[in-house]
Amino acid sequence: MREFPEGVKGMEIASSISEGLARNALAIEVNGEVWDLSRSITTDASIKILTWNDAAGKSTFWHSSAHLMAEALESLYPGVKFGIGPPIANGFYYDIDLNGKPFGDEELAAVEKKMSELAKASNPYLRAEVSKADALKYFNEKGDQYKLELINDLKDGSITFYKQGNFTDLCKGPHIPHTGFIKATKLLNIAGAYWRGDEKNKMLTRIYGITFPKQKELEEYLHLLEEAKKRDHRKLGKELELFAFSDKVGQGLPLWLPKGTILRERLEQFMRRSQVKAGYDPVVTPHIGSKSLYVTSGHYEKYGKDSFKPIHTPDENEEFLLKPMNCPHHCEIYKVKPRSYRDLPIRLAEFGTVYRYEQSGELHGLTRVRGFTQDDAHIFCRPDQVKSEFIKVIDLVLHVFTSLGFGNYTAQVSLRDPDNKAKYIGDDELWDRAEREIQEAADERQLKTVAVKGEAAFYGPKLDFMVKDALGRSWQLGTIQVDYQLPQRFELEYVGADNQRHRPVMIHRAPFGSLERFVAVLIEHCAGNFPLWLAPDQIAVLPISERFNEYAEMVFEKLKSQDIRGLLDIRDEKIGRKIRDAETHKIPYMLIVGEREANESRVSVRKHGQGDQGSVPLDEFVKQFQADCAAPV
Ligand SMILES: [Zn+2]
Ligand SMILES: [Zn+2]
Repeated sequence: MREFPEGVKGMEIASSISEGLARNALAIEVNGEVWDLSRSITTDASIKILTWNDAAGKSTFWHSSAHLMAEALESLYPGVKFGIGPPIANGFYYDIDLNGKPFGDEELAAVEKKMSELAKASNPYLRAEVSKADALKYFNEKGDQYKLELINDLKDGSITFYKQGNFTDLCKGPHIPHTGFIKATKLLNIAGAYWRGDEKNKMLTRIYGITFPKQKELEEYLHLLEEAKKRDHRKLGKELELFAFSDKVGQGLPLWLPKGTILRERLEQFMRRSQVKAGYDPVVTPHIGSKSLYVTSGHYEKYGKDSFKPIHTPDENEEFLLKPMNCPHHCEIYKVKPRSYRDLPIRLAEFGTVYRYEQSGELHGLTRVRGFTQDDAHIFCRPDQVKSEFIKVIDLVLHVFTSLGFGNYTAQVSLRDPDNKAKYIGDDELWDRAEREIQEAADERQLKTVAVKGEAAFYGPKLDFMVKDALGRSWQLGTIQVDYQLPQRFELEYVGADNQRHRPVMIHRAPFGSLERFVAVLIEHCAGNFPLWLAPDQIAVLPISERFNEYAEMVFEKLKSQDIRGLLDIRDEKIGRKIRDAETHKIPYMLIVGEREANESRVSVRKHGQGDQGSVPLDEFVKQFQADCAAPV
């Protein structure tokens, strides 16, 4: 608790703390709202000075950079009109109307240069409150119909302008102190975007860019971008023939090709085995369910109207929904017979394919699709079993992550908002207990966790796992979720030791999340160089010339008989070409066979990306390789 005179500005507070903080301060959080450092604070407030290291600091920086880009554009293209220019996850964009003027890479470079020039002027971002009438007058004179439209939707008394250099924008802020913070700029690409996202409106030009407070950070970012492009699962999925999309089949509905199917099935087998060991019972349920099932579960409300429409039977007037979730089906399996406290926990597992409507613009490779398969399971247990079940699920999730090379993970514990307990269903005591036990379970397994209040679903607390991939990007995978609602909605019961009826607790969990999303993350993590046990082709047998095809065939058959997957390349091509092709397809091992190998029953081993490994007797190689190909247990 510190005292400041009334009207103190964020920048003054930062200076009073340290010179270094004042130098790096970008904005200030005042009672949870982000403000300009130049605004006067007139009431008691909890504050936080924001720098580049804070997410809100970064987005303020990028939002301010969008204004800088607009200033550069206006100075190069007088009369240009502006739509909206928000910050995004990495950088910012601005939608502009160039009135038909051509705009390409050359123009992009010129704007970028102008931005650097204007940044050097260190112009402050000045905030001004304006009346609606004055705001309309300003943009009327400027002739910017987009800003006029935006102002018309605003309430008088709530409108602010921001000005830096010669550029004034309608904006609620906040902004960084001045343009001099922006030391490195890159305009990344241009796209078309309908005004207000409505295809009946005019198509504007959207310019994406990113900026940094240091040149070195920009260089690192561009390098990362380059690497990410090479690893893009959509690109590798095509090159390695793993999956495809067809407009004829439908957008967002992946087609798994033979090689991708091997990968997917290996993952499934691995999970099935792990689950059997962990005491799960596999079940299978249909891809559709009657509307009343989802009305009971509450999913109809969530997915019914805004998702795929119900399917009607022609004669009997029934309604079915494509399954958006597997849980309701599993609740009905629980109900097929009376359950006693001694039967619990019951763990039902299914690779259940679900369908959810996503707008076509939201679809993205395998990470956002309209049909996907969850490695789903539901655990029905007694309240006193929640903690031990959580620990078991955590163990399973960690087993999956470590087996697949995701060593860097954290977890988020999502809790109730303690000030708004009324919005959650389920007994207060049960919630307290479950929240405490989830945290204890995570601690017992030494998980790095952050607890976030107010992030729980209304029906129960949860634990979400984030993994970092080889490029340091975070992905949300596995999730474990407690649910008090569905057992209530489906009136699930068990008979307790006291001979009374009790309600079980339900735990939803999916270590992969979905197979589609998991495969996408895995491809980008390992750049298509899958661990041996998953690789669609584990080995390529490459005869040096036609003369050794027969020996090569014998080697290949021997590998196949040991369940090793691969290919035999007997094309009439030079060995160099055969090696190159195998390398391009990221096949982990190559066996080169020629005269000496054929005569002595040996093989010359080559490893992907690592070259020659020397020559080994065939039998010895097959034995070792078969062991190396085994899936983790
Ligand atoms: Zn702004
Ligand atoms: Zn579920």
